[in-house]
Amino acid sequence: MRVLALAAALLTAAAAPPPSAIQALLAAYPGQFVVDGPELVWPDGTRMAWSTGERSILEQVSASYPRGMPLDPPSEGADPGRARNPALLAKMYGDCRRGEVVPHLVSIPWPGGRSVRITGVNHIDRHLAAVARELDAPEWRRFLWPMAGTYVCRAVADTGEPSMHAYGAAIDINLGSGDYWLWRRAPWRNRVPAEIVAAFERHGFIWGGRWSHYDTMHFEYRPELLGQGSEDAD
Ligand SMILES: [Zn+2]
Repeated sequence: MRVLALAAALLTAAAAPPPSAIQALLAAYPGQFVVDGPELVWPDGTRMAWSTGERSILEQVSASYPRGMPLDPPSEGADPGRARNPALLAKMYGDCRRGEVVPHLVSIPWPGGRSVRITGVNHIDRHLAAVARELDAPEWRRFLWPMAGTYVCRAVADTGEPSMHAYGAAIDINLGSGDYWLWRRAPWRNRVPAEIVAAFERHGFIWGGRWSHYDTMHFEYRPELLGQGSEDAD
């Protein structure tokens, strides 16, 4: 009987729909993978458990990200979106240490007649180009240029995990108007206008200013935390 009960429980588990966070992940990255029970399955047959392991995929996508205005200081210890699953991201964007990210980089127009390079995976080039069009006004120029960097093959300074910059899926705007917890070692401060944050969030980018480990010049593409998909109109 116990074996039967176990089999029944397994069947029920297999039939249960994935949690809403995993459904949001599917919607955010259409065509990248499907869900088969407790695993994501990629087109090449690779399987990844989404609920197990340290910094699991479920943990990555379950963060509660407070989009929209106002830009309040993050609550103590809150870092929504800062935990990431390196296996998932490397599978999607490539491993920069193996030269897999650079071939995806494309150049897009940036306000003030400039250009920046960002990955084309998940149409991030198009989403960032949409942000650039919305912010192409004289009052925003000094926040957006000089731009402090997009693709860099490096780890996050304090965690040692790959940065979203290592996947070509993040941008730092002007250092001169940014505040970073590791340099300041002081309470949260923000000098980036809400209009700029809102434009990025509309197109799938979360903002490092919403982390208690704040990095207010940093934006990275994480539509799963914004209830968006990469096919959304931009
Ligand atoms: Zn950054």
